[in-house]
Amino acid sequence: MGKVAVAFAAAAVVAACSVAAVMVRRRVKSRRKWRTVVEILKELEEGCDTPVGRLRQVVDAMAVEMHAGLASEGGSKLKMLLTFVHELPKGTEKGTYYALHLGGTYFRILRVHLGGERSYLDVQDVERHPIPSHLMNSTSEVLFNFLAFSLERFIEKEGNGSNSQGVKRELAFTFSFPVKHSSISSGVLIKWTKGFEISEMVGKDIAECLQVALNRRGLDMHVAVLVNDTVGVLSLGYYHDPDTVVAVVFGTGSNACYLERTDAIIKSQGLLTTSGSMVVNMEWGNFWSSHLPRTSYDIDLDAESSNPNDMGFEKMISGMYLGDIVRRVILRMSQESDIFGPSSSLLSEPYALRTNSVSAMHEDDTPELQEVARILKDLGVSEVPLKVRKLVVKVCDVVTRRAGRLAAAGIAGILKKIGRDGSGGITSGRSRSEIQMQKRTVVAVEGGLYMNYTMFREYMEEALVEILGEEVSQYVVVKAMEDGSSIGSALLVASLQS
Ligand code: ADP
Ligand code: MG
Repeated sequence: MGKVAVAFAAAAVVAACSVAAVMVRRRVKSRRKWRTVVEILKELEEGCDTPVGRLRQVVDAMAVEMHAGLASEGGSKLKMLLTFVHELPKGTEKGTYYALHLGGTYFRILRVHLGGERSYLDVQDVERHPIPSHLMNSTSEVLFNFLAFSLERFIEKEGNGSNSQGVKRELAFTFSFPVKHSSISSGVLIKWTKGFEISEMVGKDIAECLQVALNRRGLDMHVAVLVNDTVGVLSLGYYHDPDTVVAVVFGTGSNACYLERTDAIIKSQGLLTTSGSMVVNMEWGNFWSSHLPRTSYDIDLDAESSNPNDMGFEKMISGMYLGDIVRRVILRMSQESDIFGPSSSLLSEPYALRTNSVSAMHEDDTPELQEVARILKDLGVSEVPLKVRKLVVKVCDVVTRRAGRLAAAGIAGILKKIGRDGSGGITSGRSRSEIQMQKRTVVAVEGGLYMNYTMFREYMEEALVEILGEEVSQYVVVKAMEDGSSIGSALLVASLQS
């Protein structure tokens, strides 16, 4: 071999070696990056861990906080608000009634016709629209004018058939924010939640604001009740099944109410002597306990929200926030490795990932996870390999599993407080016979997260059985109440008239 040929061969060997070295270096680097994201996932799993022992601590904390909130005003983060709803619809109500519901994402209007028997519940003309986002930080006048205008259009479509001429239409106003009631038909806004920010409305009577707006438009409608959405759900649950004593909403936000004995509402003794029980609106979204598994993502989400240090439980379990927790995890993974490709500005945008996209990714059953790929692409992250898509599904699973299990602990906490969890509950004021006899208990549930996100629902129901045990769980029935918050409120108006 000539000198030139030797030199050429040597150069070729050197080149091959350096290419190989680059490839090895790249592989090592990429393995290191993969290890980084696996570490992030592991840390998330540990941070979100909810073994049954921890859930039981949350159950106890919920029951204790309920007591504290009932004992004195400001005694707990749980406001345990009076609703002045002493009786729930029985099924014998008659007539035509209306409901307007302002939720966190949607507003709904509907009409129900009742024929005097449970089976004659006719829900008519259900309208459901997204709340235009500019209203969420407008003024009370703009918001209520919009609601009155929407009701006017609803009634115009009715023609003459639905309402006896000359009779005022009786309306239920379902309002899914915390209200301090002075009667069943009046109450002032305590604070906004779920991203609403119309500060001048805090302290104003919500029912009166609506009535004034209706009068201004010349609408012949009377705001007969002002109810929390959970109370609507409880009313519909009870209408169908009188064993219903608890109602929970998992929608944009989350909240619960239940039927309490008035003598257990210690902070209002004297005020409530007339009846044996009252529905209490817990405002459980604001529940907090050191036993709740909180991660750095939760802390950042809270700090950057419109209501920091507020609604801690809601921020872990409800539809408005689950998507954003998942987004924050993916964002960190993308910042600490390049497995998501070039950085996407959309991924840094708060609330850019919605919870319905989380459920779509989580429940993606295509072999290549095409739905995951599509949603990531919408977030500005394209061409991620299958193993990364699988990782994203795992993140959705961890966040939703924690939410479902904590939701179950919340429900079990209520059952404990009212002596329906099989443990004897917290005994104050309750007779022994009441504790020992395990009664059938129905928990009515509603809300977009619960109704549409199967995995959330399954995790919640599975954890409830885990906490209560097989035997007691047989007495606890969780029932979905579609549109209960609106329909049930209309039923409540009906029950007041009859
Ligand atoms: P509101 O909170 O306005 O009363 P809903 O009870 O219908 O309205 O809840 C709407 C919320 O439910 C959405 O903002 C979203 O967070 C959640 N949601 C709706 N559909 C889904 C879905 N398919 N998967 C997961 N979450 C969903
Ligand atoms: Mg709702």
